[in-house]
Amino acid sequence: MQGICLLGATGSIGQSTLDIIAQHPDKFSLISASANESVAKMAEICHRFKPQRVVMGTEKARDELALLCVDLPTSFEWGSDALDSIASDSAVDQVMAAIMGFAGLKPTLAGIRAGKRTLLANKESLVTAGKLFMDEVTRHNVVLLPIDSEHNAIYQSLPQTSQGAHKKDISKILLTASGAPFRTWSLDEMSSVTPEQACKHPNWSMGQKISIDSATLMNKGLELIEACWLFDVTPNDVEVVVHPESIIHSMVSYRDGSVIAQMGNPDMKIPIAYGMTWPDRIETQVDPLNLVDVTRLNFEAPDLTRFPNLQLAADAWFAGGSAMAALNAANEVAVDAFLKRKISFLDIARFNEKVLSSTNVVAIDVIEDVFEADAQARSLAQKYISDGSVS
Ligand code: NAD
Ligand code: MG
Repeated sequence: MQGICLLGATGSIGQSTLDIIAQHPDKFSLISASANESVAKMAEICHRFKPQRVVMGTEKARDELALLCVDLPTSFEWGSDALDSIASDSAVDQVMAAIMGFAGLKPTLAGIRAGKRTLLANKESLVTAGKLFMDEVTRHNVVLLPIDSEHNAIYQSLPQTSQGAHKKDISKILLTASGAPFRTWSLDEMSSVTPEQACKHPNWSMGQKISIDSATLMNKGLELIEACWLFDVTPNDVEVVVHPESIIHSMVSYRDGSVIAQMGNPDMKIPIAYGMTWPDRIETQVDPLNLVDVTRLNFEAPDLTRFPNLQLAADAWFAGGSAMAALNAANEVAVDAFLKRKISFLDIARFNEKVLSSTNVVAIDVIEDVFEADAQARSLAQKYISDGSVS
């Protein structure tokens, strides 16, 4: 029986993780869970899964939740230190890191430092802390399983050892991208899209922020950086391939000319279950892949003119140091402003570019440097957006 700490339980990844736990009550038990403010959703989770500890983002949300769950023995807590505490609790074997954005970094690291098997959905934490994050994984001998479908596919396509997948004889990583809703749209058409249009992903059902990131291709940019840290490569070793059907989730190309791909219907329960049971596999109730129904798999190169965020991510990787945390922070602020209809869809990449180019890139030596870089870029992005100064 594996004890699970589910960070971000009320989100899209959280829901799929709960589905797997519910399908296999003999294998998994929800020890603890967190959410920011979704009280009603969390109350349902508490009644169904009866976790020992639950952490909410605010005191108010914690108090409201506790009132809805007076019949349960669960302890209700709130705030950042409580999040770290549930991730490092001795009753926990695995931490599912599924908080949205940079807020996920601190509790994910707390779990790693406590030696927990780490299921990483929260790509922003690895993108921003990079080498420091991977150093902690090594230092604490942690099994780190990527949950992002592409990285999970790459992991599955690499040779496996008892320590995990390892890079051997590879010539390239082929990172697939769906192209999201605006793959074929002109810049002119994209200039007036609404948050509702941008959130409508053709193949995946996901949280708002990652849906917007997919539409701007910043998600692929973050994933490019994520792949570089996870698999110890550079952006020159990674080719982004647009594959609109999202059936191949990524590939590894080997020096002998072989290409190994992982395929399946686009459903996050597959990578989640793989992470929870690696090196074994379990049933997920995902429909089997029927290639005759799919009929065709298409591929094309990404268009960096219409989707400049992908290039910005590669630039940030090569700039190194605090550049990746700065780009991520700018993007979180810009996406939030777009969702609140303060800036246009195309402005997201413009503000990202402006913040990145005006960031004084410094070395990241300790984790506090990441928080500093994040805070500086966030306030710069907020200033540019409130000034309306996009170029
Ligand atoms: P979501 O918006 O659906 O859910 C986010 C969860 O995090 C919620 O439980 C929310 O309460 C919590 N949360 C949000 N802000 C928080 C804060 N400041 N402090 C504490 N908790 C907070 O997001 P999602 O789509 O489930 O994505 C979660 C993470 O997984 C993201 O990093 C995303 O990039 C990654 N991811 C998601 C998918 C997907 O299919 N949804 C695929 C790959 C990777
Ligand atoms: Mg992905």
